[in-house]
Amino acid sequence: MLTTYNKVSDETNFFGNTTPVELIKEYGSPLYVYNENVMRERCRELKNLITYPNFSVNYSVKANGNLTLLQIAREEGLNADAMSPGEIFVELKAGFKPEQILYISNNVSKEEMQFAIDRDILVSVDSVSQLESYGQINEGGRVCIRFNSGVGAGHHEKVITGGKKTKFGVDPNFIPEVKEIISKYKLNLVGINQHIGSLFMEGDKYVEGVKSVLDIAEKFDNLEFVDLGGGFGIPYQKLAGQKRLDLQDLGKKLDKVFFDFADKYGKQITFKVEPGRYIAAECGNLLGTVYSIKNNYGMKYVGTDLGFNVLKRPVMYDSHHDIEIFRESNVPSTKSETVNIVGNICESGDIIAKQRELPEIFEGDIINVLDAGAYGYCMASNYNNRLRPAEVLITSEGNAKLIRRRDTFEDLVRNFE
Ligand SMILES: *Cc1c(COP(=O)(O)O)cnc(C)c1O
Repeated sequence: MLTTYNKVSDETNFFGNTTPVELIKEYGSPLYVYNENVMRERCRELKNLITYPNFSVNYSVKANGNLTLLQIAREEGLNADAMSPGEIFVELKAGFKPEQILYISNNVSKEEMQFAIDRDILVSVDSVSQLESYGQINEGGRVCIRFNSGVGAGHHEKVITGGKKTKFGVDPNFIPEVKEIISKYKLNLVGINQHIGSLFMEGDKYVEGVKSVLDIAEKFDNLEFVDLGGGFGIPYQKLAGQKRLDLQDLGKKLDKVFFDFADKYGKQITFKVEPGRYIAAECGNLLGTVYSIKNNYGMKYVGTDLGFNVLKRPVMYDSHHDIEIFRESNVPSTKSETVNIVGNICESGDIIAKQRELPEIFEGDIINVLDAGAYGYCMASNYNNRLRPAEVLITSEGNAKLIRRRDTFEDLVRNFE
């Protein structure tokens, strides 16, 4: 028998033909689990965001770079963003064609730019000085420029990437300098991009950002595309009834802006969006095991193997993740309690859920951390020389498949001389 407190994963049949208890037995704890159907659905929702014909959804791979997930995104017709040569490498391995990849660079060496150029991958540069460097190594080449139109939005100061107080993009006041370098090196400016920040739940700020970058786009003649960035939010507080981002409303507003721009510009240029979180967050859950329960000076601590080496978001951004409970026995929880769910890392900030009211938790229970697919595994580390967990995919048929093995002790010493 299995006792479960799993409203959300039950609704999506997240674990298919298996259960968290079986998965942990087979693959160990902690464990990242992804659901293929959920990911495909998210890809399709964004592909169908608008009716404007020239539209591309670039998966921002930094949210989750697992090769199998990249292959799923590619099968769904998405293109890909890269933030580093490493991401380019993995994207090519996943079968993306060079023309499907945009390298959005930030403070990189000429060697890194050359890495992309050698593979026919378009580079977006992030400053006037980087445009100069690019011109020096790729005279006459195609290039994209990231602008900062002064608009920013996001769930935490650290991930608001547009606006007047961030390091990103070119300030439009420098457009004359930009044009000078373009003509000096006979560059072909084919696109401009921006990314105002991560996790908006109301579309209006995004639309505002779009309009402001289009004001910049108008100042350049031969653009093939404008890339509007990612940031599409997901409801992390599902148990509290948080609503989804209204894609229909956002799509309608974007459609109008896109068609109007095409009229004014005289050409139906391509519009791109770069979602990371929206594609990857909800298709991923993180499982861990409860090993100890104690009271310390009036607070109940549920001790697990879910340290911030495994999921960093709660510690890094004060993020909320909903929690479910799975129990192998049929003993039910008869009361609810307020607890801190903590990990096994040697820091007191190692708290994955703070003062959370949950059904009573017992030793041996399995904790399911919802919406952990984006900025989860990719930010995991070997801090405390802990092993990063395995990753498993629940396929469309409902079966579990290992898609990345757990680290081994050998991995910890691999690079020592
Ligand atoms: C991180 C990032 C994204 C993706 O952001 P999400 O909030 O995950 O959608 C898109 N574009 C750029 C340039 C980024 O840095």
